[in-house]
Amino acid sequence: MRLAILSDIHSNLDALTAVLEDIDTRGVDEVVCLGDIVGYGAEPRECVALLRERVSFAVLGNHDAAVVDRTEREFFNAHARTAIHWTAQRLDEHSRAWLASLPYRVSRDGLLFVHSAPRNPEGWEYIFGGFEARRHGKYFYERVCFVGHTHVPAVFALDHDGVAYDATHRFLINVGSVGQPRDEDPRACYGLLDTVAGSFEHLRVEYDVSSAMRKILAEGLPRRLAERLAAGT
Ligand code: ZN
Repeated sequence: MRLAILSDIHSNLDALTAVLEDIDTRGVDEVVCLGDIVGYGAEPRECVALLRERVSFAVLGNHDAAVVDRTEREFFNAHARTAIHWTAQRLDEHSRAWLASLPYRVSRDGLLFVHSAPRNPEGWEYIFGGFEARRHGKYFYERVCFVGHTHVPAVFALDHDGVAYDATHRFLINVGSVGQPRDEDPRACYGLLDTVAGSFEHLRVEYDVSSAMRKILAEGLPRRLAERLAAGT
């Protein structure tokens, strides 16, 4: 089975549309989402509507949770908080109810899907390095845990160092961000898992970054939220 794993769309419809078009060319059987569907960008309603039609399931991200009042907004920085307040007013009841219904974690076929971290997923911890990844490896029993949250794509081998992804060992994999990459590559990022071939890859997709930036500025959202898309930071 070929599974496309998307995370951190952040209301960037231009990026999401480009990624879904790319997915359509790759014989993907299923699409799943690791959360942060909204927050930062200018098209929250459109992203929720498009995504919920395409995914088998999604889990809750911290921005989604803040928008539907399932987590405190005070822990976010000023720009993020501005976007969260704005987003909460823009969502229709349907989108809001769907976001509010999302689980923190999904475990399926030996794979775990969470937004931030396997230990205490509602605590929104960040996993940037191998040490943190291996520490978190003790808190799930599945073979692979997929996360987003940092917006930085990474593959961490849990039970040994320095090997490429294979179908037998344990891994923690960050699939990167569709709508606001932070690894200095502005292209949209997502993960593709092939359970038959035993392979995983990060895919990068060009999209109309200036269109997404223009929409953010037109809505009066913080300028930095537009500028960071061009820089991939
Ligand atoms: Zn995010």
